[in-house]
Amino acid sequence: MAASPDTPHLADPDTNPSFTRGVFLGEIREDLVFPFPEPTTEEKESLAAILDAFRSWAADTLDPAQLDHDGKFPDAVRQGMAELGLMGLNIPEAYGGFGASAMVFNRVFGEIGAHDAALAVYFGAHQSIGIKGIILFGTEEQKQEWLPRCASGELVGAFCLTEPGSGSDAQAMLANAVPSADGSHYLLNGTKIWISNAGYAGVFTVFAKVPVEIGGKTKQRVTAFIVDAKSAGISLGKIEEKMGIKASDTRTVTFENVKVPAANLLGEVGGGFKIALEILNSGRLGLSAGSARGTRAMMKHAIDYAKEREQFGKPIGAFEMIQKKIALAAVDCYAADAGWMLCAGMVDRGAIDFSLETAACKIYASELAFRSANEALQIAGGIGYSKEFPYERFVRDSRINLIFEGTNEILRALIALMGLQQPGEEMKAVGKAFQDPLHSLGAISSYLTGRVKRTLVKPDFTKVHPLLEDEAEMVAENIHSLALAVEKALIEHGKAIIDRQMLHERMANAAIDIYLSTAVLSRVTSALEKHGEEGATADLDAARIFIPMSMRRTRRAIRALDRNQDERMRALAQRALDTGDLTVPTPTDTP
Ligand SMILES: Cc1cc2nc3c(=O)[nH]c(=O)nc-3n(C[C@H](O)[C@H](O)[C@H](O)COP(=O)(O)OP(=O)(O)OC[C@H]3O[C@@H](n4cnc5c(N)ncnc54)[C@H](O)[C@@H]3O)c2cc1C
Repeated sequence: MAASPDTPHLADPDTNPSFTRGVFLGEIREDLVFPFPEPTTEEKESLAAILDAFRSWAADTLDPAQLDHDGKFPDAVRQGMAELGLMGLNIPEAYGGFGASAMVFNRVFGEIGAHDAALAVYFGAHQSIGIKGIILFGTEEQKQEWLPRCASGELVGAFCLTEPGSGSDAQAMLANAVPSADGSHYLLNGTKIWISNAGYAGVFTVFAKVPVEIGGKTKQRVTAFIVDAKSAGISLGKIEEKMGIKASDTRTVTFENVKVPAANLLGEVGGGFKIALEILNSGRLGLSAGSARGTRAMMKHAIDYAKEREQFGKPIGAFEMIQKKIALAAVDCYAADAGWMLCAGMVDRGAIDFSLETAACKIYASELAFRSANEALQIAGGIGYSKEFPYERFVRDSRINLIFEGTNEILRALIALMGLQQPGEEMKAVGKAFQDPLHSLGAISSYLTGRVKRTLVKPDFTKVHPLLEDEAEMVAENIHSLALAVEKALIEHGKAIIDRQMLHERMANAAIDIYLSTAVLSRVTSALEKHGEEGATADLDAARIFIPMSMRRTRRAIRALDRNQDERMRALAQRALDTGDLTVPTPTDTP
């Protein structure tokens, strides 16, 4: 099977095209999103074998309610995961793994997430982030040394980035690694918190600052290291008592004068931040697939209950308000699946910048899973609130996905700021050109030509099935409007746009909906080509509900880039922050 990890896929925007960055410029880079990716016959066969084996093992071994109660995995669970070969699923075959493509790996991730969210965290913290750095950036010697033992399950991986004072702002980390005088090793010191798999880990990927001489001054640069968990000087904190995913082992890890051989440097000195971002970029796809499959599993409980529970002489599933909850979860899930699969196809093709797309998939799928957990609980009524049933656990378990591997706020800011980069640079260049117009006529005229083109020429989809012509038109229309609105916002706010997060949020929401609607167009086109109109009725229904709904949201978001209450919102929030009270006193408040 083709091993995707061997495919270079560094998200370098200068060399690798990106669909979503194109959207900010009003372009539809259709070749990146059509045709919808399909697993090969060989991949389908392997997937079927892996999923069958996992499902029958899970039926005998996994008891999610018990795991939630005990707050840990029994040895049989971790042993079973290793015996099934799952600990080496995305490790290349040359190092004892299965070498799964991103499509296969993330589909299996989804299946695990659908069975037990804590087990998905165990699986993901090991392979999506824990040892992913070794797979992507390790030298041949490092891969030979570490990966075979990780593939067999002998060593479990963990990813150590977060610190007490640096969460979203990872660059602010204090952990440091000082090279020894003879260059043979580094001395690592620091405290990492919230580390998933810490208690099981045999190997850590640790990020710490290394002093570097630049222009005669010493600067601290984030650097990645492979750290043997048995090294002297490492201590583990107690297991965190969490709201959900309780069986996953989360702890503080302290490094005190830990000697890390220079041979364990991952990538280059100072290259650690880029490595962390790259690992998280692909890790987010696993969370997306896990959330989408998890949504289906949670809603299955609610659907079964809606058929069986009767009120007013009918099953509650016969009432339209209940039907609406099920239908909306179904179309959103169709879109979330289309989103991660399209993105997995990009990862497997290689040389495509998919960083904005994985962020979009993670945001959408994580919010969908949390919303669906709440809706499933609501469908279950009173029993939904009882610990005897799984619904309250679904709500607790699904909540974490909005927080880790980049909070959804940070990811929205990332989508907007990355999307704004190219249009912003174009405008900056033009701004400079106008200071010396006689010598910059070329730059000015090419900007003006581009601007006229953007204003007048609406982009088009050419590969969408004719039955989806209206939906494709809606998406293209919004891509056009977004690019114009982005340009207008850049002119109006200039550099200050960097701090205008209420605008970022709207731009990101528009970009997320545009990407997902495009993924749906691509998926349904492929279904129509394969099965014809009759065979793809459910796909068409999903597209005809999801795309108009998602494009209505997008139109609203774009309109509000220009007409909004942001100034008043800022003032209101500031008043609450200053007084510590949400509102002014009500007439019933006592002095
Ligand atoms: C169960 C669990 C498992 C975890 N596993 C790991 C792991 O294995 N390895 C690891 O390294 N870390 C792990 N983490 C840490 C996790 O990645 C961080 O919690 C997350 O990145 C957020 O950091 P923080 O908690 O410090 O929140 P903060 O960064 O303090 O953020 C608090 C709030 O402020 C918002 N915020 C912050 N900055 C901005 C901004 N610029 N603009 C707008 N809003 C902002 C955030 O979105 C959030 O809502 C885990 C966390 C949990 C809870």
